[in-house]
Amino acid sequence: MIATTQYENVLQIKMSRYPDFPTAGWVCAHLVEGLLIDTGPAYTAGELTEFLKDKDVKIAVNTHFHEDHISANKFLQDAYNTEIFAHPLAVDKINKPAKLYPYQEEVWGYPVPSQVKPVGDCIVTKDYRFDVISTPGHDLDHICLFEKKMGWLFTGDLYVTTRPVVCRPNDDMWRTLDDLKKLRALNPRIIFPAPTHVVKEPNEKLDKLIAYLLELGNKIDELYNRGMNTAQIRQEVFGEESFIANATQQQFSSLNMVKSFLRKYEKRNG
Ligand SMILES: [Zn+2]
Repeated sequence: MIATTQYENVLQIKMSRYPDFPTAGWVCAHLVEGLLIDTGPAYTAGELTEFLKDKDVKIAVNTHFHEDHISANKFLQDAYNTEIFAHPLAVDKINKPAKLYPYQEEVWGYPVPSQVKPVGDCIVTKDYRFDVISTPGHDLDHICLFEKKMGWLFTGDLYVTTRPVVCRPNDDMWRTLDDLKKLRALNPRIIFPAPTHVVKEPNEKLDKLIAYLLELGNKIDELYNRGMNTAQIRQEVFGEESFIANATQQQFSSLNMVKSFLRKYEKRNG
């Protein structure tokens, strides 16, 4: 199912397999002047392609290789000859999509492999220029797009909430903090995240999130240096594990969050 909302010249396209899915089962793509940012999951790929038939989508960008951001690529290429770009590190992963966990298969579905080109420093449409910003915190191939004149910031999966309590095993929370500081310095006017609502007047929320993650990271550091293990730290900081952990085969968990903040010690220890 697809639902759309217009924000200035940006069309937000929300997609989900089932209309009654909770928020976590929806993901957004954004369309501006023939540029599509992310192409959504497999289950809505046909519907999205049909919806875009009179929209003249010349270019698409994948913010990263995850299956809920790339799965209409092949459909758009076949139907409209859309040129699709992604971070150089995402190109092979999109060409040969990885095996999915059962929750991913259930909620999003398998992407058809597609050939994408490495994105450059910016993407230009008739009236706008989108700077490509590397934001490797969510995954090494993650990018955000910023239209400076309009203050539009497209953040893929980097921004979800001001107080995240779960993350994926590959998230790097210290890198995410650096990414968020970089985005805050751009002074965006509106944030268009993929997983959640549009954020108007976002700087206050970015400040809150940066302060929260910094405090969280320092607390986890402190507990680790007092000799606690990751499970004990998770219990101390977050309490019982979120139900989301079991529902996603531990792909989203508070334990991942703790481990992510402590990965720097693994690196240091070799
Ligand atoms: Zn993602």
